[in-house]
Amino acid sequence: MMLGFLLARAGVEVTVLEKHADFFRDFRGDTIHPSTLEITHELGLLDAFLKRPHQEVRELTGQIGEERVTLADFSHLPTRCRFIGFMPQWEFLDFLAEHARRYPSFHLRMQTEVTDLLEAGGSVTGVKAKVPEGTLQVQADLVAGADGRHSAVRDLAGLEVDDRGAPMDVLWLRLSKRPGDGIQTLGRIEAGRLFVMLDRGDYWQCAFVIPKGGFNELRRRGLSAFRGAIVELNPSLADRVQEISSWDDVKLLTVRVDRLKRWYRPGLLCIGDAAHAMSPVGGVGINLAIQDAVAAANILALPLRKGPVPVELLHKVQRRREWPTRMMQAVQIFVQTRIIRNVLAMQTQPGVPFAVQLLNLYPWLRRLPARLIGMGFRPEHVRTPELPSPTKNQIA
Ligand SMILES: Cc1cc2nc3c(=O)[nH]c(=O)nc-3n(C[C@H](O)[C@H](O)[C@H](O)COP(=O)(O)OP(=O)(O)OC[C@H]3O[C@@H](n4cnc5c(N)ncnc54)[C@H](O)[C@@H]3O)c2cc1C
Repeated sequence: MMLGFLLARAGVEVTVLEKHADFFRDFRGDTIHPSTLEITHELGLLDAFLKRPHQEVRELTGQIGEERVTLADFSHLPTRCRFIGFMPQWEFLDFLAEHARRYPSFHLRMQTEVTDLLEAGGSVTGVKAKVPEGTLQVQADLVAGADGRHSAVRDLAGLEVDDRGAPMDVLWLRLSKRPGDGIQTLGRIEAGRLFVMLDRGDYWQCAFVIPKGGFNELRRRGLSAFRGAIVELNPSLADRVQEISSWDDVKLLTVRVDRLKRWYRPGLLCIGDAAHAMSPVGGVGINLAIQDAVAAANILALPLRKGPVPVELLHKVQRRREWPTRMMQAVQIFVQTRIIRNVLAMQTQPGVPFAVQLLNLYPWLRRLPARLIGMGFRPEHVRTPELPSPTKNQIA
């Protein structure tokens, strides 16, 4: 959606295809990071964005055993917004679509599922899609595969995936918020367990981290044992764990960390999760996807106004975005294997790691994780101009 917005803004004819009829999904990534907010500001949309319902988180805190710790402090970032915005993903997509529609060259087709690629002379020249009326063909100078971690486009294009593995899966669930809940810690670490609670205004979005493939074993032990485990982690939830009335209320996220070896083919480019599925560590997936879109638009928008782009420019997008992706995945894999895997295997109460003790002792050190999470490696800036559409080039 962001790439569609930026290209349409630069006068390139764009059609965004979305297989669902709407953007409503429970438990999608909902964090809008300071660097994404900065891009929103550069596009002149920040005030409108902040009018939409959202929460602002200025510090990330946690509880390890009995000890409370502050892990990141965003209040010193060199950005306009020194907080993480929590906004339901459908609201953010709707916001982008609303502003993109101001450009006559922007088109959005819902209920349009890409099922095949059109090819000619060794290049991708468009897509075939399933629509309620039957099938549709869209010819395009460039197909941008931004279709997420189970990308059909990357499979159809035969792009090779480098799977980096992950030791855990995540169960998402929601519990009501009650008066008097107060400010809760964001993450709780106990022997063998890791639980995260995100304040979503009128409810808590909760993540329960389990060892990879452990969901069936958890189900076998039964729902009341699961509810009991949550109460052990946070006794104040005892009055509402019954809201988890069946396993249907618990959504399994199979954690993946992977990336494509090559993000492109002539006429086709993958970005976002389609190019690199991120671990939930740090909640950076949306931010990276947005940064990819900005970089791709910066490199491709003006050439696309004239027609198909040479493969060297697609390579340039990969070169620009691969390094920040690799670096962030390296950090995530470090946290997964050195911290999360150990916590999940622990039988006794964990102590506060030395690095975290330092964050408690020297508060200014909390700016470092804030910078890493809030801005990432190599933050992008909008370089594309706002231009009228000259031609009928199309991106699908
Ligand atoms: C449960 C969960 C929680 C997460 N929490 C966070 C978080 O807190 N913070 C964070 O930053 N990230 C989080 N993430 C990751 C984040 O959602 C992704 O990294 C981010 O959304 C990637 O954006 P994207 O545009 O590449 O793909 P997506 O957001 O996955 O978008 C892909 C879109 O393509 C559509 N689509 C798929 N196939 C087709 C097709 N064949 N034809 C047409 N359309 C198609 C899909 O319906 C979808 O709308 C979470 C992910 C999950 C699953």
